[in-house]
Amino acid sequence: MSATKIIHSVPSDPLTGSIAVPVYQTSTFIQEAPGVNKGFDYARSNNPTRKALEDIVANLEGGHSGFAFATGLAAIDSVLKLLASGDEIIAVDDIYGGAYRLFTHVYEKLGIKVKYVDTTDVENLAHEVTSKTKLIWIESPTNPTLKVSDIVAISKIAKSVDAWLVVDNTFASPIGQRPIELGADIVIHSGTKYIGGHSDLVAGLVVTKTEALSEKIKFIQNASGGILGPWDCFLTIRGIETLDIRFRKQCENALEVAHYLERHPLIGKVFYPGLEGHKNHDIAREQQNGLFGGIVSFVLKDDTQEAANAFVTNTKYFKLAESLGGVKSLLCHPAQMTHASIPRAKRLSSGISDSLIRLSCGIENAIDLVSDLEHTFNIVNQHKNAVIA
Ligand SMILES: *Cc1c(COP(=O)(O)O)cnc(C)c1O
Repeated sequence: MSATKIIHSVPSDPLTGSIAVPVYQTSTFIQEAPGVNKGFDYARSNNPTRKALEDIVANLEGGHSGFAFATGLAAIDSVLKLLASGDEIIAVDDIYGGAYRLFTHVYEKLGIKVKYVDTTDVENLAHEVTSKTKLIWIESPTNPTLKVSDIVAISKIAKSVDAWLVVDNTFASPIGQRPIELGADIVIHSGTKYIGGHSDLVAGLVVTKTEALSEKIKFIQNASGGILGPWDCFLTIRGIETLDIRFRKQCENALEVAHYLERHPLIGKVFYPGLEGHKNHDIAREQQNGLFGGIVSFVLKDDTQEAANAFVTNTKYFKLAESLGGVKSLLCHPAQMTHASIPRAKRLSSGISDSLIRLSCGIENAIDLVSDLEHTFNIVNQHKNAVIA
């Protein structure tokens, strides 16, 4: 979808001509007679500011309907509520830590079985699906090892067993990738990340492909009530207006950073779908519209938590914080931060080694981001040499 179309999908207010979407800060709506209203009755069920955001997001992802939730995890939770005890989920092994925690500690207790599979090879998935598989849950690229899975191929496997394919599209953003066009049934986003884009809110989004799925999620949204408030809907809409230009700049910066890291002598491995050596580089190029994302992860040669700690506490522009996708660059150490809830053995088996560091490139000048990393490597190296001497 073009930047023009995205910007002009944000409606102006027909009542006043306000070019920005008004914030309807209200809990209820006056009715002319019981049940006779202007399309809104109570703000959990619907709110005009939220509706504007939901329509914009449905359009952005090419789906039937959009739904806005309080956080990305509330959005994920609403999708899991489509399931019943006895159903099975097959999820990508390198899944977001919070999703893993929700699956394992909430939904497995309720009788839902989850199998984790390396979905970067479609055959792995083909072997695991059964008639009980109701959801196939992937992220592409994944967090934080940037694994890429073939959405078109996986959607065919999902169809063959009548399961829904859910794609967490947070990392690619709708600018890079539109999973519904590639065969997904449901797309979810942590709106906290690229879509919001300014590290000033938390939000979650669900987009459904069919009317039947829209009705189910609408019911769950109203029944469970984890909606996004009007002010945060407004901020999310404001973020979407600049999503295209921000995301392209972030991808450009990340590619430069990845190329720099790849050549650095203190680096053990770089994870970035835009590098030719990446396992599914060609699939990423195809399904992400040539935009490989703003996240780059790397492992140090000295693959220890101590080395990672020394690195992440010495950068200047890359601020040490959870989250990603904002205009300011961030970095984090997943093993101690975002992925601390995943047991170490499981972390290691999905490639999150002790020194893995995740960078979220913002929209600063690439040259400054690279020199920040260069400067940090020099500090860490001097410190190490001093210790050895
Ligand atoms: C952050 C994130 C989530 C969770 O979103 P919140 O808004 O933090 O609840 C889910 N999936 C991915 C890939 C994420 O990065």
